[in-house]
Amino acid sequence: METPSEMSGYVHNVSPMKDGAKSKFFRFDFQTSEDESRKGICFSPQKRSFFCEKEQSSSPCKISKVSSCSMRSSDFVVNEKSSVESTADVGFPAKRPSIRSVSVKDISYLSVNDVVRVNVKVLSIDKTEKVTVNSGDEREKTDVIVGDTSGAVRLCVWQPHVLELGRSYGVDAKVKLFARRRFLSTFPESVVNEVGPIYAPDGIQQIDQVRATGTIIGSQVLSRFYKCNSCKRKIDPTETKFLCCPHCNMKQLRERSKEEMIVKVVVDDHGKHVHLTCFSSIVSTIIGEDSLAMKSDDVEEKLLEQEEVELMYDAFSNTVNSVGD
Ligand SMILES: [Zn+2]
Repeated sequence: METPSEMSGYVHNVSPMKDGAKSKFFRFDFQTSEDESRKGICFSPQKRSFFCEKEQSSSPCKISKVSSCSMRSSDFVVNEKSSVESTADVGFPAKRPSIRSVSVKDISYLSVNDVVRVNVKVLSIDKTEKVTVNSGDEREKTDVIVGDTSGAVRLCVWQPHVLELGRSYGVDAKVKLFARRRFLSTFPESVVNEVGPIYAPDGIQQIDQVRATGTIIGSQVLSRFYKCNSCKRKIDPTETKFLCCPHCNMKQLRERSKEEMIVKVVVDDHGKHVHLTCFSSIVSTIIGEDSLAMKSDDVEEKLLEQEEVELMYDAFSNTVNSVGD
């Protein structure tokens, strides 16, 4: 969509000020006709009060000397050189843009805090926990996995919203990021309502997850260690009865400390060599034996002797998080 250098319309959804790599910025939606709106990003912080005032009063304004933007999250850029001014009637009423509907797969391309609507089926319900929020109140949060035909994603459902397993819902949610993986979260004004059945194929992949299928052509046990029962950091392996954590000095019985192992594998996926990291539980699943009870040499050899494997891994960390059958 070509962006003219001058536009008149209404301002909606001015975001809080954010810290960019070079300067502070904020985002907003700019309604340019009865039912069309564009996404703006403004790198001129002092203009924010003008935009907020225009949004609150629903009065039209004119923005000039803006430039087009190739980012997925914005259509045009307002900077120091751009000018903003009040204008007379633009010939159409102000209408807050409706939340855009996206498929689950599209979430990979969205920015953090974008608000979207998804129509999804609840595939699994993970855990419910009580979280102390900024105001100091305790609120209940349930993690569920939802999906449609395009993919699956984690959704944090905050009280009072409740989603039931196997049912389908239209959900307003914000895009969030944790450990470089996107997920969705409901927010206080979220509209959540049950919709007709949404189809999600069995075993549909979560977004940001990649599948590698092939044979393991290289394996190396990188490290073995114990995890401190107190601070969770690494303790070097030893044969002694007790372990003393070098980080927090907590002494513990070795047989009651959790052991861990990190193994690098190279998978030949149809000629493409994929380098992946596996923790002991994944290694045990692949070889069908308790890897922690084995010598490192045996673990490496057992991995190499496997027939074809199917590993799901995180696209950013290259860490395997599940094994196909
Ligand atoms: Zn410790």
